Amino acid sequence: MKIADVKVHLVHCPIPASERVTSAAGQKYARQAAVVEIQTDEGVGGIGPVSFGSASLDLLAVRVIVEQVLRPHLVGLDPLLTERLWEHMYHGAIVRAYGSRGFGVAVLSGVDIALWDIKGKAAGMPVYRLLGGFRRDIVAYASAVFWKGQPDEAAVAARTWVERGFSAVKLKVGADSQRDVIAVKAVREAVGPDVLLMVDANMVYTPDAAIRFGREIEPCDIFFFEEPVFVEDVEGHRRVAQALQIPVATGENMYTRFPFRDLIAREGIDIVQADVARVGGFTEGRRIVDLAGAHGLGFAPHTFGDGLTFVANLHMIAASATGLIAERDITWNPLMEGLLIGMPEFRDGRVWLSDRPGLGVELDPGFVAAHPYAGEPGISWGQLPAMVAL
Ligand code: MG
Repeated sequence: MKIADVKVHLVHCPIPASERVTSAAGQKYARQAAVVEIQTDEGVGGIGPVSFGSASLDLLAVRVIVEQVLRPHLVGLDPLLTERLWEHMYHGAIVRAYGSRGFGVAVLSGVDIALWDIKGKAAGMPVYRLLGGFRRDIVAYASAVFWKGQPDEAAVAARTWVERGFSAVKLKVGADSQRDVIAVKAVREAVGPDVLLMVDANMVYTPDAAIRFGREIEPCDIFFFEEPVFVEDVEGHRRVAQALQIPVATGENMYTRFPFRDLIAREGIDIVQADVARVGGFTEGRRIVDLAGAHGLGFAPHTFGDGLTFVANLHMIAASATGLIAERDITWNPLMEGLLIGMPEFRDGRVWLSDRPGLGVELDPGFVAAHPYAGEPGISWGQLPAMVAL
């Protein structure tokens, strides 16, 4: 089998003004997706997402890197040699032109995931089984039931999503600590003791502020505290993780296994949130999950973006004994249900992967054609970290 063609589909869905959400990562204007499609000479094709989710996604740059930089080298090669192709793309092109972390690695992720989709179809097996195979059903949490608003609204929203079947919910925090503490307490009281509760600060706290905030919400039994401080502040992560009983989760702004290795070595992380559509696909995602597992750390990937990013990460969780929980975007997002044919079923607070080979889903060409991208930004600038904003 040989790779015959590689291309990118770009999708843009403007969010109605009344539905736009704001976090420390910025205000979202649109939901956007970039999907890599690979065809082989034997008629087997695969798709893979390039995810930014909370960040502004430069869709045209994805197309340029995939179709002009990677495609000429990939055509004619064996798509099943995923380990070799990953090393070729990363060391041969991405590191030198786009850096060892960041955007180029996210683009590589889409190619790698499309290759695994092909590998699954060629083997007649779902990707999660090819990668190991641990479960089919995965608990999903509602992301997020609280953005900027009043604490009583947070309590009502949390209860509503629990009534719709979720057994776990996340709140956005970081804009106003006192209000956030009241919101977290109100939500815990509203949903009772059995629902998992998480908070996400999108990197805006200083380590001291994160520790102060964490101590105030510790009695609320928090499952994890996501991105408490700036992603490059390894020492800050260590301080927060050592000071709090609440597990520290991070990873949505980390690329490749190398920053995870450093943070794990410094004991600055308890739950690994590597998003396979950013960190380098399944090939790199599996390395990260295994590295974390060797240190007793669970895996709960960031999957806030589009349906294909969600599905890819579901396969990584389902493949792993240390996979904990999946993030389900509950905000206005047609890319969760409309982008794909064959989305996994959600029932009793869990998502159920199908037995279909590969990722088990296909792009809906009508949806893609109906939502063209013409260069519009997807999000405003994000909030500055507290130490910069003072
Ligand atoms: Mg987050």
